[in-house]
Amino acid sequence: MATCYQCGKLGANYRRNVTTGTSSGNWVSNRSYGSSNRNYYGLRTVCEKCAAKIDKNGYLMSSLILIIIAILSVRFHTSKPDAVAKTSLSKSR
Ligand SMILES: [Zn+2]
Repeated sequence: MATCYQCGKLGANYRRNVTTGTSSGNWVSNRSYGSSNRNYYGLRTVCEKCAAKIDKNGYLMSSLILIIIAILSVRFHTSKPDAVAKTSLSKSR
């Protein structure tokens, strides 16, 4: 019987991408040549509760990305008529 990668509970039978490690470098480290922070991800076995939490976070993140794309596209579409209106006003004077 598998244990949950995140909470250690027995009976874990869900597979999810989770953070498996992190690394950070400073300005004097050999490999990063500057300040850096990295997260590493991998497929691990988690329990039902942790899988639901991971799925909820993924849903919130994809919803946030969709909202940002919607705001940007509305902004892009509404900015064009304004530019045309301003130039036509300036030409008429
Ligand atoms: Zn768990």
